[in-house]
Amino acid sequence: MGRNLAAAARLDTARAAARTGTAPGTLGWLVDELHHDPRLGSQLVHAAHLPGVPARFAPLAPPLPPRLAQALAGAGMPGLWTHQAEALAAVRRGEDVLVTTPTASGKSLVFQVPPLEEALAGGPGRALFLFPLKALGQDQRGKFLRLAAACGLDEEAAGCAIYDGDTPRGERNAIKRRFPRVVVTNPDMLHLGILGAWTGWGPFFADLRWIVLDELHTYRGIFGSHFHHVLRRLLRLCHAVGSDPVLVASSATAANAGDFAAELAGRPFRWIAGSGAPREGRHLLLFRPAASPYTLVLELLTRLLAAGLKTIVFTKARRITELLYSWLRAQSPELAARVANYRAGFLPEERRRIEADLFAGRIDGVISTSALEMGIDVGGLDACILVGYPGSVMALWQRSGRVGRADRESLTALVALPDALDQFFLDHPDALLGRPCERLIVDPGNDLVARSHLVCAASELPLDPAGTPGDRAWLARHAPVVSELVGRGELLERGDGGELYALRRRPQRGVELRGAGMPYDILDARDARPIGTVDGVRVLHECHPGAVYLHAGRQYLVEELDPDGRRVVAAPVELDWFTTPLTEEETEVLEVLAERRDGRLAARLGRLEVTERVVGYERKRVHGQEIIDQHPLELPPIVFETVGLWWEAPRPVEEALRRAGEHWGGSLHAAEHAALSLLPLVALCDRGDVGGMSFPYHPQVGCGAVFLYDGHPGGIGIAARAFADLPGLLGRVLQLLASCPCDAGCPSCVQSPKCGNGNRPLDKGGAAHVLRLLLG
Ligand SMILES: [Zn+2]
Ligand SMILES: [Zn+2]
Repeated sequence: MGRNLAAAARLDTARAAARTGTAPGTLGWLVDELHHDPRLGSQLVHAAHLPGVPARFAPLAPPLPPRLAQALAGAGMPGLWTHQAEALAAVRRGEDVLVTTPTASGKSLVFQVPPLEEALAGGPGRALFLFPLKALGQDQRGKFLRLAAACGLDEEAAGCAIYDGDTPRGERNAIKRRFPRVVVTNPDMLHLGILGAWTGWGPFFADLRWIVLDELHTYRGIFGSHFHHVLRRLLRLCHAVGSDPVLVASSATAANAGDFAAELAGRPFRWIAGSGAPREGRHLLLFRPAASPYTLVLELLTRLLAAGLKTIVFTKARRITELLYSWLRAQSPELAARVANYRAGFLPEERRRIEADLFAGRIDGVISTSALEMGIDVGGLDACILVGYPGSVMALWQRSGRVGRADRESLTALVALPDALDQFFLDHPDALLGRPCERLIVDPGNDLVARSHLVCAASELPLDPAGTPGDRAWLARHAPVVSELVGRGELLERGDGGELYALRRRPQRGVELRGAGMPYDILDARDARPIGTVDGVRVLHECHPGAVYLHAGRQYLVEELDPDGRRVVAAPVELDWFTTPLTEEETEVLEVLAERRDGRLAARLGRLEVTERVVGYERKRVHGQEIIDQHPLELPPIVFETVGLWWEAPRPVEEALRRAGEHWGGSLHAAEHAALSLLPLVALCDRGDVGGMSFPYHPQVGCGAVFLYDGHPGGIGIAARAFADLPGLLGRVLQLLASCPCDAGCPSCVQSPKCGNGNRPLDKGGAAHVLRLLLG
């Protein structure tokens, strides 16, 4: 969402509505009804209206080929929206383009038009479409082929084939014998199956004119660090066979999307953010549940369906999806018959049937996990209920963007859960609407990641320190790693100090893009079928013997952890308890990278060695979270190097707290939890991306200290970003602590489901006291 919309929305809040007695827009009557409802009204704490905007069209010079223009007109698109025209003109000029307009603003047309124009002109140019998820690739291939057919282009001129892990060998060979106009794949397959065996691909790379990068925001964190190098490897091979493809990217909107894309790809993009697509008015409502949030969700769903709005409910977990649906069925069976539930783990046929039922209007509502967030078209929906803040403003707008159809307003209702971020936005609704989306962070400097990709690159084509500017810059940036690899014999230098070769064949097989280090396979105890994988760094926390491991919402009980075979054996179970690991952590500061002092707040950023020991685990009831028992474990420590920040809690502050009767360790521990849970406000990050530790006394620091660090070896840039914004982050923590109405700390402020110490000790008041003293 643009800043203008957000500003308009702030003027248009519920307070204004209360003055005039009517909420704006064609759904204003419904918002008024909710405000005045004796049960729902008091729980509705904020309402905003985002006014609609009309379509803006722009010409393209020279215009689209007549057959393509006619095909688009036939599909209901009489012309190009401004952002489409601007992007296509730039791509034609050979500029790298990034489009960050909202969901459903016709971004994929910008991918499809260049290869179609080329096909219509009979040129040789080809395109590579990269999608981070397989389902998106399927969807986009269908759309491309339909548009090609409408232009009268046949398979020969505008073919489009998927080349991924599911493509049978026979089809792969057929693709390589006769390359189609467009190849659709994903980053993992590009890394392993295409770059790792690229000789057959030479002719395709030689004709490669466009590389499409969809959903660019997914390449953040450790996945982004890997993808940076995969893209470099692809571009250097293209260069070697004489092509210089243009990058055409799309992303969810973010405060720093342009810089992020440039960091990721190592070259600048033309960033197009202003959308010319039309948009109907939208209502955004925030609810603070008086009792159970789920009861409120079902009441709201019932009301919206009764008002004739087709509604989607987004939950954060499959279990909640199932629970809501079963409660709905028990409460009102006739309503449940008009609603479906949808989640990962359903068979593709089941999913297609639900999508088709929604599309055709045979059902009026769906309760879904984030599985329906991206891509797939389910026709017109009018309302969206979010069960809990989805973790980022970006995801909020993406989910809310799934509803709304031509000529009708839409409504999004957020029902808060007991969680620190939910709490923060209930207290600062203007922050939710007014702030641009989170910053996307990628750290191409991670040497551990660079190390593995440099070996892959050298095996694909020798690296030449005196060669192309691209190779030169790449090698220079990671010079210490390169000499280390040469020293260890993983890279071989030609006698005269020239090119670097890799000794190992297919080193790509040992590099996994979505994690750090080699993952462990998780196997089903019944038939040894793979269930999934887990990062080496997380395996002891999540998959120790006796752990209940959740995968795609299913429960598995870990029976065996085999470090030598890098595998975990787990059996599917249905339990009413779950496990949390108990851990002990230490950290050693290896090197200070930066320091800052803001009044009495002193902080540093540095390289850390983190040692974590999983010393046992607790079993807890799913309902009520009551602790059943504790079990000790004997496991080796996990040691890794990363980047982290720490702030000092000096002696005078400690004395002041002791005088006030507050628990020193518990105060720092509570401050650490609250800071970790609000970190996504500063930089978009996922569970497992960051860790925290607090020490009543840290020998190297010389006083109490709180550490926040990147959870992946080598670092991913999150801690560095948080360091740059530390006073702001701690200021928000203080606001959260001051506004949470609980007495001694709750899941909405200082308790964390991830705590390795079972949330003991925690002192909420003491945490606020420390921060007040430090921030002045
Ligand atoms: Zn609280
Ligand atoms: Zn903790």
